Amino acid sequence: MKIIMLGAPGAGKGTQAKQIATKYEIPHISTGDIFRANIKNGTELGKKAKEYMDQGLLVPDELTCDLVMDRISQDDCANGFVLDGFPRTIPQAEALDAALAKIDAKMDFAIDVDVPDSHIVNRMSGRRACLNCGATYHITAIPPKTEGICDICGKELVLRDDDKPETVQKRLDVYHDQTQPLIDYYQKQGILKSVDGTMPMEDVFAGIVEILGA
Ligand code: AMP
Repeated sequence: MKIIMLGAPGAGKGTQAKQIATKYEIPHISTGDIFRANIKNGTELGKKAKEYMDQGLLVPDELTCDLVMDRISQDDCANGFVLDGFPRTIPQAEALDAALAKIDAKMDFAIDVDVPDSHIVNRMSGRRACLNCGATYHITAIPPKTEGICDICGKELVLRDDDKPETVQKRLDVYHDQTQPLIDYYQKQGILKSVDGTMPMEDVFAGIVEILGA
């Protein structure tokens, strides 16, 4: 099963994508996580990506597309994958479709986790991330066992630069401008499904499972 998660930054698509990956035993591919890992490791790609990410801007398509195409061509993606944070522009969606067409494949579902902007800024200011292992939390919705400390690796949790309120508004503007047109794109392909992302996380996931089939 090949799945795309759509939705504004902070809509909860990453949390849902991780659960989908576990339930359906397919890799979770998050471009944001890939960029953050590169930043942490000080790679050339990381240095370039950080300049854009810290401003709430998208990393250019030419830096993003190849790395996703390379990832989905790996063996563990043979039975499908869930894409989280990609595609984010129409050219990225076209590049994905073209790469899949070459192997006679196509995406099965694009799931839009729908949350109004008014909820997003509040939600994101409560997000906390572990820069060491990539785990994410929310101070009220998904709190760590010990405040400020990662459950998984014990390192300190931080508010990511790109989750700070001034950057969040910029990311929302970028989302509406560049990513929202994908809703129409996948609607036309007949694979768009929508879930109400304001519901509790378990209910959002139940809605997604209903769409995908148990
Ligand atoms: P995320 O963790 O998915 O919210 O991504 C964090 C940041 O990484 C975004 O605000 C962008 O700067 C960058 N990014 C992630 N995925 C993409 C993508 N598909 N295209 C361009 N930039 C991306």
